[in-house]
Amino acid sequence: MNVSDNLINILKSVPQHVKVVPISKFQPVDKMLQIYDYGYKIFGENKAQDLAHKQKTLPQDIEWHFVGHLQTNKVKFLAPFINLIHSVDSMKILSEINKEALKKNRIIDCLLQFHIANEESKFGLNIPEAEGILNSDLFHRMQNIRICGVMGMATFTDDMNMVRNEFKSLKQFFDILKNKYFSDDEAFKEISMGMTQDYRIAIEEGSTIIRIGTAIFGEV
Ligand SMILES: *Cc1c(COP(=O)(O)O)cnc(C)c1O
Repeated sequence: MNVSDNLINILKSVPQHVKVVPISKFQPVDKMLQIYDYGYKIFGENKAQDLAHKQKTLPQDIEWHFVGHLQTNKVKFLAPFINLIHSVDSMKILSEINKEALKKNRIIDCLLQFHIANEESKFGLNIPEAEGILNSDLFHRMQNIRICGVMGMATFTDDMNMVRNEFKSLKQFFDILKNKYFSDDEAFKEISMGMTQDYRIAIEEGSTIIRIGTAIFGEV
């Protein structure tokens, strides 16, 4: 079986305005090449060094997304080429991204990750923390990052009502920030939410980017 068939089925079933990011973590490059050879050139990873390694190995015209928890000392591996960092969850990491982007003379697109799940372990901001960043002088001085929207991960549960409510809250956070800080900024438009088990609900609740691993590549 060719994994691009799974991708094709998902692409057929989701609205045009929703971007599908295949999450290729733990996947060998030959499986990724099945998708690339089909003509789809977008991948997401959750470990900076794995991503940097695959970026060197695979063709150079791939759009790379980073979706995992990012440590400051790993930003330099991504800064030369990354297209979107979904997982900005502190001022510290945003400053580091800005600093490394400046060195590479780039502007790096970022999403603010919110904590929406009913689980301790998941990273992410709340609204006061996000506003603390957006209101700060430090943020206003950053010339090499661009905030393009928000990201969140729902609780891992069979309770789809709970998942739906978590996605609703992320959409509300997006609307609050859009109205208050980004009403004139067309770049602030993305809501990255939805994975294999919940992407259909996420799309109903306003997702613009879904991050799909298992439904494309199968169980690891
Ligand atoms: C692994 C991962 C995904 C994809 O998960 P699946 O359930 O396999 O689709 C999406 N987002 C993040 C942040 C991930 O780490």
